[in-house]
Amino acid sequence: RQKNSGRNGHCVFNEKFGREAARQLEVKEVISEALKNDWFELHFQPIVDLKSRSTIGFEGLLRLVHPGKGILPPLEYIRAAEQTGGILEIGDLVLELGLQALERLHSKPEWQSTYVALNFSAAQFLPDLPANLAQKLSAHSIDPDHLVLEITETTLMQNNMGLASLIEDIRNLGCAFALDDFGTGFSSLSYMNRFPVDTVKIDSSFISGLDETAGSERANKTHALIEAIVGLSKRLELNVIAEGIENEEQLRCLIEMGVETGQGFLFGKAEPLDTVLSGHTARQPEIMSLPDMKLSNT
Ligand code: C2E
Ligand code: MG
Ligand code: MG
Ligand code: MG
Repeated sequence: RQKNSGRNGHCVFNEKFGREAARQLEVKEVISEALKNDWFELHFQPIVDLKSRSTIGFEGLLRLVHPGKGILPPLEYIRAAEQTGGILEIGDLVLELGLQALERLHSKPEWQSTYVALNFSAAQFLPDLPANLAQKLSAHSIDPDHLVLEITETTLMQNNMGLASLIEDIRNLGCAFALDDFGTGFSSLSYMNRFPVDTVKIDSSFISGLDETAGSERANKTHALIEAIVGLSKRLELNVIAEGIENEEQLRCLIEMGVETGQGFLFGKAEPLDTVLSGHTARQPEIMSLPDMKLSNT
């Protein structure tokens, strides 16, 4: 990342550290201001059935709508929040906003069986998470199988002793788990045994790799990798979602490789719930069906 290196690309440690720390402090202040002033919003990106292009669910993505600076992208302040502990408060807010959205969606006949997937950070997996989820789901009268928790390989790697049993407890409530950004972390296959998930989300870097000239070495490798992930997932009875689909050619390739579900700018960006509910952008399915997100409940 260029912005962390000094003049002429030379990295001057003290300078970098100083700027990084200053930036962190600034981000930290913005986060607390945002929490105080309700600047955080959850926007919703459609997750679609690739063949019919109908929306089967939504991923909730955090947005900090700053009155002066506009919409700030989440990656930077989420990392800062993870380091300062602010992620717990943000996580609670995201859960609350996600469940409110589900409640509103479910009140519309056309969205009655849709689900919402929310991103969870490692720090949120505390002993009281299952009870907290159960309580909030019931307060909003949401059936747990309409909530998906997205976690990354990095979260699994943090090797939190209690993580496997927390995942198990939450799956026993009826919520499903999706392994986000799959293929970009360490992708240790043993995680797939230790941490049962329901869905694998192929990272967008693989999907953009499909743009390479057909027959080129990179294109062939990308195809092989996606096919391997799809094959493995099918054998393990996991759903597959392709992330970051931007064009028709990528879509065609993915369908050909047996991927059934995806999301990306080709279908829609993350938008405020009101926009989704107004029905102008997200396509609504003709026949609603929730894919069987769960492997088993036992
Ligand atoms: P993610 O969970 O992998 O989310 C997908 C990201 O890809 C989103 O970026 C989304 O806007 C973007 N995206 C979707 N379709 C396309 C496409 O076709 N092309 C391109 N170029 N990008 C696409 P976003 O919203 O900036 O989020 C970035 C990351 O921030 C997320 O990655 C997730 O790791 C994290 N994040 C977002 N919201 C939350 C949250 O509520 N809690 C936590 N803990 N993390 C969050
Ligand atoms: Mg995600
Ligand atoms: Mg992702
Ligand atoms: Mg990603």
